[in-house]
Amino acid sequence: MADRIADIPERLTRVRQRIDGALAACGRPRGAVKLLAVSKKQTPAAIEAAWRAGQRRFGENYLQEAATKIAALADLDIEWHFIGRLQGNKTAQVATHFDWVHTVSDLRHVRRLSAQRPADRPPLQVCIQVNIGGEQSKGGLSPDEVAGFARAIADLPALRLRGLMTLPPQTGDANAQRAAFARLRRLQAALVDDGLPLDTLSMGMSGDMEAAIAEGATIVRIGTDVFGPRD
Ligand SMILES: *Cc1c(COP(=O)(O)O)cnc(C)c1O
Repeated sequence: MADRIADIPERLTRVRQRIDGALAACGRPRGAVKLLAVSKKQTPAAIEAAWRAGQRRFGENYLQEAATKIAALADLDIEWHFIGRLQGNKTAQVATHFDWVHTVSDLRHVRRLSAQRPADRPPLQVCIQVNIGGEQSKGGLSPDEVAGFARAIADLPALRLRGLMTLPPQTGDANAQRAAFARLRRLQAALVDDGLPLDTLSMGMSGDMEAAIAEGATIVRIGTDVFGPRD
């Protein structure tokens, strides 16, 4: 464990280089992609090591675990992103502890998130999860449901709709993966044309970030390549 923590600064440097290289390869400007370090199952010490190396955005999947870590690291200026499956009875914890949520796809949940957002916090930044591959096992809306849902979120006072998020089908086929990311980008473009101010595409993980960046990702969610394999 100790040496894994010592490795984190160098791992982060390599991830940042990969992001810069992927941006350069497709002619996008440096800084066009933000790195979200996915810290699920990582200790507060590991998160602090990444913070010392300049990382400020962290993503968590499990609320109980996240609440403990967020409290332990309350002195650090960290932007916390919830990227796990949302449950109706847990929305208050997301509304209270997090700056962003990437996984909304249920109108009852977003209404609750808005009502439960503490009045002294800025609006909760929201991405709609889209099931771009139409997989039974995955959460998220089908692409044709997104526009109506986005309009409903735009009316909620304590939420700020930022964009779309997806977990693409895990095929070994790089072209299929890239095609899925391209579908999310085209969906975002169509919504922007319709007047919805979406500036975020949350897509790309350790194994597929280059394809996601080539298709317009603005946030990549990287766990393994920042922290090492999870136990
Ligand atoms: C765990 C997780 C990631 C990070 O995955 P890695 O392969 O470890 O980079 C990204 N997004 C979501 C939604 C996750 O649950």
